Amino acid sequence: QHGIGREFAGDDGCRQIFSKMERTYIMIKPDGVQRGLIGEIVKRFESKGFKLVAMKLTKPSKEHMEEHYVDLKEKKFFPGLIEYMTSGPVCAMVWEGKGAVATGRKMLGATMPSESDPGTIRGDLCIEVGRNICHGSDSVDSANKEIAHWFPEGICEWESCSKAWIYE
Ligand code: ADP
Repeated sequence: QHGIGREFAGDDGCRQIFSKMERTYIMIKPDGVQRGLIGEIVKRFESKGFKLVAMKLTKPSKEHMEEHYVDLKEKKFFPGLIEYMTSGPVCAMVWEGKGAVATGRKMLGATMPSESDPGTIRGDLCIEVGRNICHGSDSVDSANKEIAHWFPEGICEWESCSKAWIYE
């Protein structure tokens, strides 16, 4: 239900172009919020041309965060990760656009900030893996799961007036 919106299921001529329209779950972690980096990160996604379709500041429970990172629960760093991620509010967002999942990951940079290229969010703005300021879905499948997990109330569908200036 949180997949691609009706606006992209257009006629045959449009289908090819819009078939890669995606939504990705991007989350500014507690350190990003505390360091006042919400604006900087939002700015990069907005400037790129992606469309914000959901956003909230929330202090998630331990259980909610453990579910988000369930695939990592056997990792040694898991308890520390949950402690870090529940230490303050996070800014939960959904961004929409062509190739939003893969491009979002590129914009974030590598998991390890030391391996993130300059120009990426992690490459420019943080130093340690345990304080790497942002999360981004790693596949369309996990994006759909994460969007449903963080926005059970649904997202905000709207038409951007700049669409024709971003997509040919
Ligand atoms: P990503 O966030 O890039 O998708 P992972 O899913 O592998 O990366 O890990 C989730 C998060 O767990 C990372 O963003 C980071 O905050 C933390 N993490 C990953 N590896 C380590 C590590 N070796 N030590 C401490 N924290 C880690």
